[in-house]
Amino acid sequence: MSKITDQYEVVELQDYEPLVGSETVERIQAKAEKLQDLHVAHVNSTYYGGGVAELLSSLTLLMNSVGIKTGWRAIQGSPDFFSITKKIHNALHGADINLSPRKKQIYEQIVFENSIRNHLDHDMVIIHDPQPLSIIHHYKKHGPWTWRCHIDLSEPNRELWNYLSPFVERYDAVILSIEDYKRKLETPQLFFMPAINPFSIKNKQLSDKEMEERLNYYEIPTDLPLVVQISRFDRWKDPEGVIEAFKIARKQIDATLVLLGNIAVDDPEGPRVYDSLMASRDDRIIILSKEDTALVNALQSRATVVLQKSIREGFGLTVAEAMWKGTPVIGGSVGGIRYQIEDGVDGFLVSSVEEAADSIVKLIKDETLCRELGCRARQKVKDNFLLTRLLEQYLDLFNSFETAYCLKDNNDSRSV
Ligand code: UDP
Repeated sequence: MSKITDQYEVVELQDYEPLVGSETVERIQAKAEKLQDLHVAHVNSTYYGGGVAELLSSLTLLMNSVGIKTGWRAIQGSPDFFSITKKIHNALHGADINLSPRKKQIYEQIVFENSIRNHLDHDMVIIHDPQPLSIIHHYKKHGPWTWRCHIDLSEPNRELWNYLSPFVERYDAVILSIEDYKRKLETPQLFFMPAINPFSIKNKQLSDKEMEERLNYYEIPTDLPLVVQISRFDRWKDPEGVIEAFKIARKQIDATLVLLGNIAVDDPEGPRVYDSLMASRDDRIIILSKEDTALVNALQSRATVVLQKSIREGFGLTVAEAMWKGTPVIGGSVGGIRYQIEDGVDGFLVSSVEEAADSIVKLIKDETLCRELGCRARQKVKDNFLLTRLLEQYLDLFNSFETAYCLKDNNDSRSV
């Protein structure tokens, strides 16, 4: 990690050299060279909780480290607003929604208020997910605007999509996680899978002592193998299915299940889901809601098996995080997870509670299999899901915009 002053340090592109090689670092540096002092703003709906905030906290620093002046704004919203945007989120995943004029009015009004507070005259603006989507309506653009949607858009609620797509069409580009999510749009669509910061507290190598300390602190027993799922408390993550699968597996093996979750500001359903799980707790089913990234790391590192048994998942950062630690992951065979895990090669993909239970048993009984899958999983993340790959994709996008906008400016001045 690079020292900025005697006191502070921050991850820089060069820190990735031992992981991705000097050629990659130099190539990225050369791409950033052409974009020095470009002013970029990312806008999303929360600074904390969930994959987008996790991603932006590292990506925005790394972008600054290569000379791109990158800022991050989160929109402010009342509980009403976030209750509506969570319904929008769910409906983009395919759930029903009662899209009343009142809901649309609250959504658009709060976004409008945010547009007054946020002065976005940047060279490039990147708006994340549906919460701030309509904000584009209120600006005179000074450069290209991109909508980056992290949600599985393969089967959105049609009425909702018809309402949102005119906003989407105002953008210069749309970024989705995988091609399966492509929509019929005039706006060009690109596909960037998310990525992790291997140097963060959540992902760096912890010593055995550090791991023990975190687990002891929360009184998590380590006498039996740990089966873990770490996710926001959200029905799409299927925490009930995880508990059910664990109960079936426990008829054949002995283990401890830990469900760790947090609650994001922009997800008001979390407390209800958390409360509904409480009745399932016992001395071998531990359900925790804690804000502790070192605990996330310790659990993902120490677990024999990590589950991410989602029913819908745009891309699971938690999957990449656990794979990076060499822990085999059992993932729901949905959305982006199908591109993160190759079934039977570097993890397991499952489509039912029973399959999840079988995979838990298989892994707990076979240490060699765990090691082999985990080893390939770590390599997969090293090759595909580190932040340098994502940074490079953004640089390519910015460079292509720069070329397109320069050409357009030249043409405009010629035609005057
Ligand atoms: N996370 C966390 N603590 C928790 C639960 C989740 O720090 O108790 C983090 C998790 O490690 C990951 C992010 O929240 O970095 C979740 O991202 P993911 O893409 O898996 O799911 P999302 O919440 O965006 O749907």
